[in-house]
Amino acid sequence: MITQQKAKMNNELLSVLACPKCKGDVKNSGSFLLCKTCKLAFPVMENKIPDMLLEDAWDLDKAKRHGFRHNFRLTK
Ligand SMILES: [Zn+2]
Repeated sequence: MITQQKAKMNNELLSVLACPKCKGDVKNSGSFLLCKTCKLAFPVMENKIPDMLLEDAWDLDKAKRHGFRHNFRLTK
């Protein structure tokens, strides 16, 4: 398992992460990384690994309605 190692890298990871759509900065908001430009919210999994796939991203509004919480799990 390399999950713990990945979690440790999270802070460093955040600084290099960019929105896959506009390549802009994303903002950490607890359970989501937010791109204000695209109004997208990328879910962060329970092991702190963000899911930066566009197809998994939520609308910013939807994330807001859910209080920036999600119950996604690492099932893939
Ligand atoms: Zn973007």
